[in-house]
Amino acid sequence: MKSFIAERNKQVITKDDGSFEIDCGVDSVAGSVSQRACVFCGSRVVLYPIADALHVVHGPIGCASYTWDIRGSLSSHEQLHRMSFSTDLREKHVIFGGEKQLENALLELIEAYKPKAAFVYSTCIVGVIGDDVLRICKQTSQKTGIDVIAVQSEGFQGTKKDGYKIACDAIGKLVGTRNDKPLGEFNINILGDFNLAGELWMLKEYYEKIGISILSTITGDAKVDDIRNSHRASLNVVQCSGSMMHLAKDMKEKYGVTFIKVSYFGIEDMSDALYDVVEFFKSETLMNNAKELVKEEIGRLMPIMAEYKKKLQGKKAAIYVGGACKAISLVKALRLIGVTTVVVGSQTGNKEDYELLHQLCDKGTILVDDSNPLELTSLVLEKGADIFIGGVKERPIAHKLGLGFCDHNHERKLPLAGYEGMIKFAEEIFATASSPVWQFVRKK
Ligand code: SF4
Repeated sequence: MKSFIAERNKQVITKDDGSFEIDCGVDSVAGSVSQRACVFCGSRVVLYPIADALHVVHGPIGCASYTWDIRGSLSSHEQLHRMSFSTDLREKHVIFGGEKQLENALLELIEAYKPKAAFVYSTCIVGVIGDDVLRICKQTSQKTGIDVIAVQSEGFQGTKKDGYKIACDAIGKLVGTRNDKPLGEFNINILGDFNLAGELWMLKEYYEKIGISILSTITGDAKVDDIRNSHRASLNVVQCSGSMMHLAKDMKEKYGVTFIKVSYFGIEDMSDALYDVVEFFKSETLMNNAKELVKEEIGRLMPIMAEYKKKLQGKKAAIYVGGACKAISLVKALRLIGVTTVVVGSQTGNKEDYELLHQLCDKGTILVDDSNPLELTSLVLEKGADIFIGGVKERPIAHKLGLGFCDHNHERKLPLAGYEGMIKFAEEIFATASSPVWQFVRKK
């Protein structure tokens, strides 16, 4: 293979009949121009959908603008999360410190917007100049009477995955601080769906139809007071385990809330998610309700999927996404509509994820961890993919190569989870794979 940095050889594997071993969870190789985002970005994307909280980025304006409105993260209540507040640190703050700037900004914003809580993100430069963000947050909290939580997410201290953990610790400061939300008979928290395009509302509808109450959603369409009450749920249902597993484990340890991992992408995984949750409650009524819902949805979807399968049979896809759990579901969902996965990778997958992917994929599929644009271009060309599924950073690669592209990341506008989401996914894959526009792109 061309366009590869030698040190990354163990992070790019072709599935064959031999044993499987891949390097993952390691720092990006210098000079690789990794597709991964920084620690601050990791924290920001997890906390951002808490819509009635104030989010203040302590740093130069670039950090705030880089992550402004970064996710769809629809809210059914407040919209405060969509504002991007920054302390706009300049050269003089680098020399004299930015603590006063932060304190003034917090007091002014809390007075103006009356948020339920505030998150203060430290960016690279704050780590370098050494502002005492913890102290400012504590003081402001005492003055205003609301929780002002320091998110010490200086970009240089690791990768986006470290940012997830820092965000989980910040959420953990709210969990268990209220006991006043009424409980249903069967209560769960939904962790790791960020309601990018309204999918969380579809999931809630499925659960509620079966007879399960949602105590809190962390963090899609989240409310601070619901998170405070979330320790009273019987079960944490964790999607996107890369970002939320730390919180789930923490809640298990502190409050005894059991957790399970699920995925809501594709018919198979969506149905398994409902059955797994219902099995936890050991209720015959819930199980019958779940069976009825799944039967009805599958009966509705399968003829539609069969039509798409006829049209898409033989097409090849490349997948490169943030978390490997999503990639696993995508391989299955693509198979259902006749599309073979020839390249699959992620920014933050772990060994367990890649082992599952390895078992699932066909012989010859390339598995790649923490890739870069040059590598991805080379892999996609080598395997002759027709469609690329990724996020905003993969879109230009696909467009320059004249490939169909499906956005399965932060910026998408279509809900792709759940049963309805599977129809939208198939529609999108078909539309992009068969678009006449690609004939006008000069192929390499
Ligand atoms: S790497 Fe540092 S400077 Fe760049 S966006 Fe992240 S926190 Fe800001």
